Amino acid sequence: MGLARSTRLVAAEDRAAQVFDCVRAFLRLHRLSADPAHYAFAHEVVCNPTGVLAQSVGTMTEGGIRLSTRDIETLGGGHAESSNDPAPSDGLVAQTQMQVEGFTDMVRSMRAETADFGRDLAASATAMQGSANSDDLVRLTAVMLDRVRSAEARLQAATSEADQLREKLEEARGDARRDPLTGLPNRRAFEEAFAEHMERGTRLCLAVCDVDRFKRVNDQFGHSVGDRVLKAIAEALSTACDGHFVARYGGEEFVILFSNVDLAKAHTTLESARLTVDAKRYRLRETDTPLGAVTFSAGLSSADVGEPLGAVFGRADKLLYAAKDGGRNQVRLT
Ligand code: GH3
Ligand code: MG
Ligand code: MG
Repeated sequence: MGLARSTRLVAAEDRAAQVFDCVRAFLRLHRLSADPAHYAFAHEVVCNPTGVLAQSVGTMTEGGIRLSTRDIETLGGGHAESSNDPAPSDGLVAQTQMQVEGFTDMVRSMRAETADFGRDLAASATAMQGSANSDDLVRLTAVMLDRVRSAEARLQAATSEADQLREKLEEARGDARRDPLTGLPNRRAFEEAFAEHMERGTRLCLAVCDVDRFKRVNDQFGHSVGDRVLKAIAEALSTACDGHFVARYGGEEFVILFSNVDLAKAHTTLESARLTVDAKRYRLRETDTPLGAVTFSAGLSSADVGEPLGAVFGRADKLLYAAKDGGRNQVRLT
């Protein structure tokens, strides 16, 4: 082993030992058990001392207050094991609140400093009247520069933290409204989009689509092939209905919100989506075995102004079932 490499290894081991010691000290200080969630929390605080989490901990423990398990949960730690625990975005919300409070404190203290400085300046200006004292002026300017620089540095740090948090929040917000399999908006995003359009008075038509005999695809070729087919259908719907809101409602059901078009136009677009999906011939990537046609049926209805989603959806859903009863691979509309 080369000298440089062994030196690097020793340095890495030293660093690991240091981190471990700091994590242990943190857990001991706050009398926390060394369970993995606490350990991971302490690790993040120790390894990222200028990060949002470490600063939130700093604020919470000011004056020697000990962290509780509850505090750790509030800050987004300690919920890795159980699905009943708060969502990761709860931790982000807590961090954001902490940061807003931090900002308020900082702005308050900066205003106080500015007021002090204004008083100093006024006093010096009075004292200097008549006899311009350049020493006073130099001293005052130096103090002012110091304060401005320190304020700038604090603002800079706080702004970059705020940017990081904003990105994390946007990510969490996006994840909560996106279906991970197809990448389409999910049911929640669809419900919000419907409400927003209704509020704006947009002319809307709603299609409820359901893949035909999809259980067979899963039964014959397996669930992961079924997943791939769902992704392909999602893509075909998005492309064919470009400019409209296509979402995965759940399972093998998709919804399309046609905006600013009449029922006839929505129907033409939906029919072309149906024909595209019908014409596709899927094959197993691994063996080239044909899967046969995979089709969907749909119910399409226009929404009245201010109509609740449940009413429009109910109509479109009934039409979907009529399409199924009518032999599938078709669109029914009112
Ligand atoms: P129909 O034409 O009457 O709609 O028949 P169907 O077989 O499509 O309807 P059914 O409700 O009996 O079955 C739906 C199937 O969709 C069962 C379920 O396993 C499958 N499914 C739902 N979500 C997913 C998914 O995310 N991935 C896969 N691979 N299958 C899914
Ligand atoms: Mg279904
Ligand atoms: Mg189905």
